Amino acid sequence: MSTNQRVVSFHYILRNAGGEVLDQSQKDQPLSFLEGAGQIIPGLESQLLMLKKGEKKDINVAAADAYGERDEKMVVKVTKDQLPSKEIKIGDMFRGGPDEDAPVFTVTEITGNHVIVDANHPLAGEDLSFAVEIAEIRAATQEEVAHGHAHGPGGHHHH
Ligand code: ZN
Repeated sequence: MSTNQRVVSFHYILRNAGGEVLDQSQKDQPLSFLEGAGQIIPGLESQLLMLKKGEKKDINVAAADAYGERDEKMVVKVTKDQLPSKEIKIGDMFRGGPDEDAPVFTVTEITGNHVIVDANHPLAGEDLSFAVEIAEIRAATQEEVAHGHAHGPGGHHHH
């Protein structure tokens, strides 16, 4: 059984505004997402959904449509005893609660007993550019729609 939602698989090279490569898909392992499920950033999804299999495009996504603008209110000063670990260093990341959707904090500064943590996404405030190529477009399986995410090639379960 298939549905009218689609699963799109694509190869990508992600660059920041300065042209530096931040991330890319692995050869023969395109990234797949379920249409409309919010699996990838909205500014990228809307553009990818207009492409056909085999099509290539450079897609520029402004920060607001990517990981959002930086919010300085999400940078907070805490004391070391408020953190889950005693052994912390700059760059450590931890989740702000037991919920899977709780914000992830990154330690950006340590001064004595005080620690500055930043809950902005590491790519917040960055205008991004994706060089993409559509590898496959297929109908989503009912299982994928029920789960709200794409599975592996052909919709086979992989988790
Ligand atoms: Zn699943």
